[in-house]
Amino acid sequence: MTTFYRGAVLHSLAPDHVELLSPGLVEVDAAGEIQRVAVESDYRPSDFKGSRRVDFGDRLLLPGLVDAHLHIPQIDIIGVESEHLIDWLRDHIFAEEAANEDPAVARDRASRCFQQLIQSGTTACAAYSSVHTEATDIAFEEASRAGVRAIIGKVLMDREAPDALLESATTALEDTHRLIQKWSGAADGRLDVAVTPRFGISCSDELLSGAGKLAQQTGARVQTHLSENKGEIEAIRQLFPAARDYTAVYENAGVLRPGCLLAHCIHLSDDEIQRLAQSKAAAVYCPDSNFFLHSGRFPLDDTLAAGVTVALGSDVGAGTSFSLFEAMKMGNYMQTTQVDPELLFYLATLGGANALGWGDRIGNFAAGKAADFLVLDSRDLLRGSTVHEWDLRELLSILIHRGHRARIEAVYIQGQRVDRGRHR
Ligand SMILES: [Zn+2]
Repeated sequence: MTTFYRGAVLHSLAPDHVELLSPGLVEVDAAGEIQRVAVESDYRPSDFKGSRRVDFGDRLLLPGLVDAHLHIPQIDIIGVESEHLIDWLRDHIFAEEAANEDPAVARDRASRCFQQLIQSGTTACAAYSSVHTEATDIAFEEASRAGVRAIIGKVLMDREAPDALLESATTALEDTHRLIQKWSGAADGRLDVAVTPRFGISCSDELLSGAGKLAQQTGARVQTHLSENKGEIEAIRQLFPAARDYTAVYENAGVLRPGCLLAHCIHLSDDEIQRLAQSKAAAVYCPDSNFFLHSGRFPLDDTLAAGVTVALGSDVGAGTSFSLFEAMKMGNYMQTTQVDPELLFYLATLGGANALGWGDRIGNFAAGKAADFLVLDSRDLLRGSTVHEWDLRELLSILIHRGHRARIEAVYIQGQRVDRGRHR
């Protein structure tokens, strides 16, 4: 049966173009696919024959948010501080991730992680599991059960970490290959696998080039970290003396490929930015994490000007919040000049979808896409006014800077309500 969802529909059509349809109707078929979106007055009474209507009144209907970078096994260590990345990994994170060896721990974390994402209005994500193959399998099972869209990867490490987290390159790559065969396109296409070398420091040449080869052979995407912190870059220089810069480490290994998700990308030269654009990889801006670990400022203007695909990430657990509203707000604060609200909203929705390679399926309410959306109670945000009393940029600015405090009333993925616990 066709369902018409009624509310103030707000979505991004391009980095500088957000559309408000109010009151708008989103027409969704039985398969959870959007048939049409328009203002209510554009429909004729005959359009509604035999259909169901869900009226959200003056609530905002927004496309599901897209979190392009987070770590599932770090969800219970959010906010535990260290000054910089390398100390933080050594002092807190590696021990936390080692506990994922216990399947019960891994399942509990993954289950809570996906629930928290959904409750924050995030309907699609790219996530790191730990090095453990079983925990990664479990993460896929829990993502499937939660109904969320997720690209997940088993973290690859064969050096520069405690022994409990190291594997041989051969084992790590064979297990990743099995995960790709099992989970690519699973759960009606909601799940996918990323080859996930943690970063250059934790991977030998053999493991890194094996990761590049595996991605090329299977067509799987890659996710990793690039140029987050100056100490990290210095370590890379010593471990890969032949590489001309950090980006070259991934180029040489075949890891820098179209669709590759590169978290952080903070301390890049102009030349590296140009090469990222040419590679068709995506840079993931994680402003909350960048504040937390004092990593530096993501070059938002320079990457966009060069044509790099950019997305937003919470980077939980270095990020302190699952909310992409928080990431949009921090994404503005972290820059030295004001970021257009249209752009921030684009990055958290359609831009993120493009970075994940799902821009034709999700990211806005265009006909033919999946009905992945959230319903936001905007009454507190707008202090009793209606959306019509605000200029569109003002409305977006309020949403970006205060949206994390608004109540999310419902979340749908592929037309199915997913915010009331386990889905299938
Ligand atoms: Zn990260």
